[in-house]
Amino acid sequence: MMKVKAAVVNQVNGPYEFEELDLQEINHDEVVVKVVASGICHSDEALRVGDAESPFPAVLGHEGAGIVEQVGSSVKNFKVGDQVVMAYNSCGTCQSCRTGHPSSCNDWAALNMGGVRSDRQPVFKKADGTPVSNFFSQSSFSTYTVTNVNNLIKVSDDADLRIIGPLGCGFLTGAGTVVNGLKPKVGDSIPQFAIPKLIEFHQQGKFAFDKLVKFYKFDEINEASADSNSGVTIKPILIIDETYRAGEPLPS
Ligand SMILES: [Zn+2]
Ligand SMILES: [Zn+2]
Repeated sequence: MMKVKAAVVNQVNGPYEFEELDLQEINHDEVVVKVVASGICHSDEALRVGDAESPFPAVLGHEGAGIVEQVGSSVKNFKVGDQVVMAYNSCGTCQSCRTGHPSSCNDWAALNMGGVRSDRQPVFKKADGTPVSNFFSQSSFSTYTVTNVNNLIKVSDDADLRIIGPLGCGFLTGAGTVVNGLKPKVGDSIPQFAIPKLIEFHQQGKFAFDKLVKFYKFDEINEASADSNSGVTIKPILIIDETYRAGEPLPS
């Protein structure tokens, strides 16, 4: 078991409060990710203010990017040290998943909004044993988290994780309207295909999503959230691991 620093929402409309939580052991199909950065999105806010039914306390955050720290026994395509984006979870076996529509997975709500992982156990606990809900099977507002292998998209080692977390959600769904010439085709909504494509467009200068973002320190999460709500910032990104590429300027 590992101690993590997480931004916890303890009740509806409560602020993000930093707490040390116990990260539970992984199952065979899960990985531990060291979170580098995470976007903040209106879905996080919807949960925080109680617009969606979700159990508190909770660690929100569903646009995380990070580095694989530990892999479960049945995980095949990921290894320690891989750079990853965490999108959403899906069962991988229902009709929708098998026909390339994981966002319509039969278990989507339970796997992503249920507050627990597929075995119904919590990912986080407080020191006194109180379970803390996870979100989108990733809870990226934490220094380390447990996620399912079906959440993960591997990205190349030269991609800068500080800018690409939001591709897991906001820019993935918004990309069709943001990028001229990115005509959605079959499969484009599948994160495992769409995210590497968006990174490629970005590297070619065709998708300037960095013009929409503003970076904040993890400790500034309440300010970042307020700026998102007021519209001051279109896409706040929290830098959770400040040691990552510390010698390199933030992407611009
Ligand atoms: Zn989102
Ligand atoms: Zn499914």
